[in-house]
Amino acid sequence: MWMFDLAREQTVGPDQLMELARLSQDSGYDSLGLYLEHRFAYPSVPWAHGLYALTPESVLRVRSEFPSLKLVPFLNVLGHMEGFLRCEPGESLRESSFGGMMGCPSRLDFSKLTKSLVDDIIQCFDSEIIHLGGDEAWELSNCPVCAQTDKPEIYSRHMTPLIEQVLSASRQPAVWGDMFIEHPEILAEIPKQTLVFDWQYRTGLSNSALSLAAHGHALVGCPTLHVYDAMWVHLKESETNVRQVAFDVKSMNLEGTCLTTWECGLFGAYDTLFPAIEWASNVMDNPSWGTRLVDAYSDHREFAELMGIELNSLGGQFSFDGHRSRLKCRLLAYGNPFLAWKHHGEELAGEAGDKALELSQRAIDCSTGEEFKGVAIFVRTSVEIVRMMEAAKRWYAEGEPDKAVRALSPIRHAFDTLETVARRTRARIGGSLADIERCGLAKRHVETVIHRIRQYGRGELGYVPSFDTLVQTVFVPYDQGCWHRVNKWGCD
Ligand SMILES: [Zn+2]
Repeated sequence: MWMFDLAREQTVGPDQLMELARLSQDSGYDSLGLYLEHRFAYPSVPWAHGLYALTPESVLRVRSEFPSLKLVPFLNVLGHMEGFLRCEPGESLRESSFGGMMGCPSRLDFSKLTKSLVDDIIQCFDSEIIHLGGDEAWELSNCPVCAQTDKPEIYSRHMTPLIEQVLSASRQPAVWGDMFIEHPEILAEIPKQTLVFDWQYRTGLSNSALSLAAHGHALVGCPTLHVYDAMWVHLKESETNVRQVAFDVKSMNLEGTCLTTWECGLFGAYDTLFPAIEWASNVMDNPSWGTRLVDAYSDHREFAELMGIELNSLGGQFSFDGHRSRLKCRLLAYGNPFLAWKHHGEELAGEAGDKALELSQRAIDCSTGEEFKGVAIFVRTSVEIVRMMEAAKRWYAEGEPDKAVRALSPIRHAFDTLETVARRTRARIGGSLADIERCGLAKRHVETVIHRIRQYGRGELGYVPSFDTLVQTVFVPYDQGCWHRVNKWGCD
């Protein structure tokens, strides 16, 4: 099985889902997992999904066209429910007042909501396995009511009825394993028929599988393609992880393997992962299969070597550390692309930036497909943007605000270019609608900063605000000490 992540902010149209199903079947997978969160049009919870969510009709269509391919729903009923909780009808169900991703298991309305989600999934999917999520529930016992009960008890009190709901529909419930690793005593309370998905993205299963199986639960080993922590994907580390987990599944005679793919938001492109997904199917069958992952990219091998291996070997923020890509997030996720300059400006203005530009240009030149070219354009443009910001900072420090403005001006076009890439990705294979908006938001902030430099860069306020002050999301003329930064307690 492999799992497609359409949650968070992904879209997948009916034809695109058919393409994913075709890829899955042709690659030899028996099941395609669909990680849903709030991106499925749950019939009984119509407020919970936005535009272009996956519909029950699309699921039925794929099942009818690909009857031998199982579609396995992966929902979440505890943590990772932020998409529900950030909607007005879900606001009162949060475990934490500010931030957070978990619903409050002590609230009856939250229990009712999760029961409805599971009911809908049972109705809309005919797969044997129904995966209830349950991972990364870090906020357990956060609210005053839940705080009166132990974390393991809260977890099992919330999850067990939902697991039993799946069992009573004659299906097989599944849950991620990480909360059982943190609280092993929960396993004793969870029905034995529950499949436990042991996700281990940096190691094999040797440190986790024995304890997860201690109460007789069957295990599925889950490796990943390292996309969320890369500008594109870390090919070497993905290969090592997939081979190791596949080997452990075979040697420990576990139930199966599920390749996960996470977070193609922030300029991922699922169609650039197709060769890796196909390759992983062969490795699951034979962990010693001789073909290297980079070689699986055959026609796009040079691109894969450049963007999947050489780029990552530049070190610094390009290197593999398992952390969500800081450059991608800082450039796009916070509405202020200058955060990327603030943290990575010095690094990217130097040799690492020179090499990243060279590699990404070579990747653009050798790419024959729009999908691969888009990834390389994203890498090149990200580096260029940060370097233009660094140049602007230097001009500004030298008392040359006009030159600083001239250095920043091309960034507007750069974000237009990225917006075009995001639109084409979305049209081609599905993707993030938010990425399109993020480019516009970033461009508008750059225009705002240009305006501020023109207005205040020569000391018009009687003082010259520092460059890193002018590029903040909040800049208030005359607030020379930036009290919104001093009073950080007031801003959440
Ligand atoms: Zn609570």
